[in-house]
Amino acid sequence: MDIAIRTPLIHSLPLSQHCGAHVWLKMESSQPTGSFKLRSAGHVCRHYAEKGAKGFISSSGGNAGIAVAHSGRRLGLPVTVVVPETTSARARELIEQEGARLIVHGKIWSEANDYALSLATEEQIYVHPFDHPLLWEGISTLVDEVISEGVRPDAVILSVGGGSLLSGIAKGLENHQLSHIPIYAVETEGTASLNASLNAGQLVRLDKVSGIATTLAASQVCENVFNVATRLDVRSRVVSDDEALRASRRFLDDHRVLTEPACGVSLSLLYDRKVTFNPDANVLVIVCGGASVTLAGITG
Ligand SMILES: *Cc1c(COP(=O)(O)O)cnc(C)c1O
Repeated sequence: MDIAIRTPLIHSLPLSQHCGAHVWLKMESSQPTGSFKLRSAGHVCRHYAEKGAKGFISSSGGNAGIAVAHSGRRLGLPVTVVVPETTSARARELIEQEGARLIVHGKIWSEANDYALSLATEEQIYVHPFDHPLLWEGISTLVDEVISEGVRPDAVILSVGGGSLLSGIAKGLENHQLSHIPIYAVETEGTASLNASLNAGQLVRLDKVSGIATTLAASQVCENVFNVATRLDVRSRVVSDDEALRASRRFLDDHRVLTEPACGVSLSLLYDRKVTFNPDANVLVIVCGGASVTLAGITG
């Protein structure tokens, strides 16, 4: 039994008509934990479980931590998630709901992460939130599913935090000889670590990250996305918090699905027509989802 499920691929009439192209939605919001992270974390956890792992450690108070907690439960192995004090009550609840042990340690993520790393052993496997080739391999199956349904994308739109989604989709596109198509990689103004690195021509660490898209708040992207950006046609785009929120709200009305602003950033490129496509283009949008979002959180 797979941990991540095959998600729906939906031809969006409202977005297709709005943008004048064929807009395809890959609904990762339908994963049991609400985001694509189940593809990545699930793949890593299964890999190490088969090699005899006795448990997993995560330091993510977001979708990655929830996905590791879920994967451990499905594999019958204990999971410990170490989060900083800033982690929301909602995220803590979702992690505990999966049966994981939740440890609150430190004021900021790096303190929680250091503690999580100190707990890792050869049998207690630390699962990184975004920087590991097995994570990307797990995500690449998303492209296999799209291709198997007869859709060959002419462009992809996705969100960027630490860069596992971009790394995984790039790998999937390369596997299907689609490495030439443009990939629109979207961040918010307060979390634009990929944008800053591409502008600088080298990996840059942001002094601070801010804004509502906390899921995208990695101060530095993984080195691999930098290599991906030189091999493939990666087009960095930055939108405001407000644009992301508005897109999540419109998407809720159009498709009756709640998404984090971390996902709204990608949708806003289409709703605000920041890119144009030719009429027969197939545009693939990764609806990355997000577990911590509530109705009050986006309508506020
Ligand atoms: C993790 C995540 C992202 C960002 O993915 P990265 O691999 O960190 O770039 C975007 N949206 C959602 C919902 C996520 O869970």
